[in-house]
Amino acid sequence: MSIIKILSEHLINQIAAGEVIERPASCVKELVENSVDSGADEIIIEVKNGGKTFIKVSDNGCGMSKEDAAKSLLRHATSKISDEKDLWNIMTFGFRGEALASIASVSEMILKTKISSETAGTEITCVGGEVKTIEACGMRDGTTVEINNLFFNTPARQKYLKKDVTELSQIIMFLNSTALAHPEVSFKFIHNDRMQFDLPKTDNLLRRISDIFGKATSDAMIPIFYGGTDFKLEGFIGKPVISRSDTRHQYIFVNGRPIQHRIISFKIKEAFHSMLMGDKKPVFVLDIHIDPSLIDVNVHPRKIEIRFEDESRILAIAYSATKAALQSHNLIPKAFVETQRYMSDRFPSSWPQGEISRGIDGSANSAGFGNMLRTGFGADFGGDMHLGEYGVPDSQQNFGLNDANKFAMKAVTQVSNSYIVAENSEGLVLVDQHAAHERVRYFELLEQFNAQKKNIQPLLVPETLSIPLDEIPILTSNMEVFEGLGFEIEKGPGNELILYAVPAVLSGEDIVEIINGVLDDISHGSTSSNVKGRIETIMHFMACRSAIKFGKKLTIDEMNALLMRMEEIEKPYTCPHGRPTMIKLTFNELEMMFGRK
Ligand code: ADP
Ligand code: MG
Repeated sequence: MSIIKILSEHLINQIAAGEVIERPASCVKELVENSVDSGADEIIIEVKNGGKTFIKVSDNGCGMSKEDAAKSLLRHATSKISDEKDLWNIMTFGFRGEALASIASVSEMILKTKISSETAGTEITCVGGEVKTIEACGMRDGTTVEINNLFFNTPARQKYLKKDVTELSQIIMFLNSTALAHPEVSFKFIHNDRMQFDLPKTDNLLRRISDIFGKATSDAMIPIFYGGTDFKLEGFIGKPVISRSDTRHQYIFVNGRPIQHRIISFKIKEAFHSMLMGDKKPVFVLDIHIDPSLIDVNVHPRKIEIRFEDESRILAIAYSATKAALQSHNLIPKAFVETQRYMSDRFPSSWPQGEISRGIDGSANSAGFGNMLRTGFGADFGGDMHLGEYGVPDSQQNFGLNDANKFAMKAVTQVSNSYIVAENSEGLVLVDQHAAHERVRYFELLEQFNAQKKNIQPLLVPETLSIPLDEIPILTSNMEVFEGLGFEIEKGPGNELILYAVPAVLSGEDIVEIINGVLDDISHGSTSSNVKGRIETIMHFMACRSAIKFGKKLTIDEMNALLMRMEEIEKPYTCPHGRPTMIKLTFNELEMMFGRK
């Protein structure tokens, strides 16, 4: 007797639904993608209870004929591809023809649709995948799909749904990303009868970024561009000050499709190099246009991953385009913010609470820089400062750091033995002496490491230093870095090291303390497993350990020497960990703050 059965169509759809329709957000995703594919430029999304009880997506797209409407609910029914060669030329979201069938099989669905060539629309009701009625209806051109009681017949699935607010935030996350991929479409989103957002259509991606994240964020975005015949990359990357501790605001679109691509994200982060603080992740919106025959979108059931034929080329371009964009901008933080604009941009009244707290600001509050500014100017700006709001100078209003005449900073005084107050022709500059010197040192050490002929200072009397035993293997395994910098170290008896020469940039410093400190940092910090990363980390540690301390009194001459050095080096605006080294207050801003303007 045969025990193998062919599964029923209904069961097949439910299994497919298990793959494609995980939760309300996946339902919204499939419906909205169908609407975008239909050529709509106006899409309205209404949901209730985080989408668990009600989802309705309406569009003004091409609609369907009565005949197609009935077919659209069948599995493997699609208008988007017809033969194998189409599979290698996909420019639409959909092509598998299973979303509507899958959603219908696990919900109560009402599909209403009309094409312009027919006078009446078609309304189909369907429960658990079974078509109940097909009738004519009056409606405008376009399609509306209403889903009631998602997963009503698959209680196991229903059980796994999260709280309404969690499901809602998933929906918003998806809508944000689609809206960024398609600024040419207007999106209205209504939850529990309340308008959450209303994004007007625009041909300007930066406007869409501003509508979604607020003007402060869009102001801190830098355009990025690479143009080729079969490949084009454009979009925006966020300046380091708006980097975040998570990757939620990293968007990559390939031919209009949001995808996840860990290595591209990684390459972009790498291009920021030492400008990012700690483990901060950059913010970006990247739009990749590529000949569809050079990618494979059919590698993931939910189509969130794709494969590039020539991935290494894409990675190299993402890296170099990011680098070029960053280099073309001055990255010095601005200490001026218009409080009102800040408040209204940050908290559009329509955003649900969860989204606000995790949304745009996550990275800022714990940042030392935020605290530093708060101490200095907090009272004037009303307490809750936000790092991102300080932005960095945009191209129209740069601080003239590239212009020798304008830059020339002169030290005025030192505050709290920690900050240098300086002035130049543009206004006031506050310099964090440790961060600034750390950047100078990092630059010098890097130069020394890369130099053919090292600038070495032999010690007249060799120094002996003793280090904890467990740090000896750390030193020996990193000896090539120390030697590369110009240290001449020999292992002595027990836990002793004998030091014969040091890099000239560190002569006069307490070398024993520096080496001990660096070894301590290496043993407690995480160093990268690749050689280049490890060398950089060690240099970061050494720059930090040898830099002027926060709290050390400096003479005016010493301050001026540091400021002059800042003008000579690359990337003076952030320390190697990405914290700002200086803040400016232009005379113009001072005048505005004091109400003179
Ligand atoms: P796919 O999008 O993979 O083709 P779907 O099951 O999502 O599969 O949709 C099946 C078909 O129904 C689509 O190919 C399209 O022809 C039609 N369709 C679905 N939604 C819409 C819509 N909003 N407007 C016009 N046509 C639609
Ligand atoms: Mg589809």
